[in-house]
Amino acid sequence: MSTKERTFIAVKPDGVMRGLVGTIIARFEQRGFKLVALKLVHAEPAFLEQHYADLKGKPFFPGLIKYMSSGPVAAMVWEGLDAVKTGRAMLGATNPLASAPGTIRGDFALVVGRNICHGSDSVESAEKEIKLWFPEGVVQYTHALNEWVNEV
Ligand code: GDP
Ligand code: MG
Repeated sequence: MSTKERTFIAVKPDGVMRGLVGTIIARFEQRGFKLVALKLVHAEPAFLEQHYADLKGKPFFPGLIKYMSSGPVAAMVWEGLDAVKTGRAMLGATNPLASAPGTIRGDFALVVGRNICHGSDSVESAEKEIKLWFPEGVVQYTHALNEWVNEV
């Protein structure tokens, strides 16, 4: 598990509208992950269909695209040890009702169609999503806390 593993995390439009961007960023910062890309995007349906290509054909797909294109998304890339799996654990289960308290969805959401955040489900998906959302690339720097968070 590389300390350079990266995951794509997004605050969905409901999370942005509810003022939860800072809270979600704070959780990843406090855990020790390094923010390497960040932007606010009002995504087009065609773009979101690419992002969710694996879900095309699901009954909720049209509603999902409408939801995700209904307002801005705070798109980010976080880097650190086991970032993909740990990021998913921090978000909680897809259905917020099944998410443990202490997770982001378990603390701030109730229904699957308004679950406030996205996180890559594998290293391969993360690479694909990072390229899609950040074709310009991410920012390389050494975090001041690096040696206090990681065993370097
Ligand atoms: P995730 O990786 O945990 O976000 O879950 P999926 O990749 O399976 O689904 C992507 C997103 O589609 C979820 O985060 C939900 O916003 C939405 N979604 C998934 N399943 C359902 C469902 O059964 N009903 C509705 N309305 N939305 C769903
Ligand atoms: Mg998914």
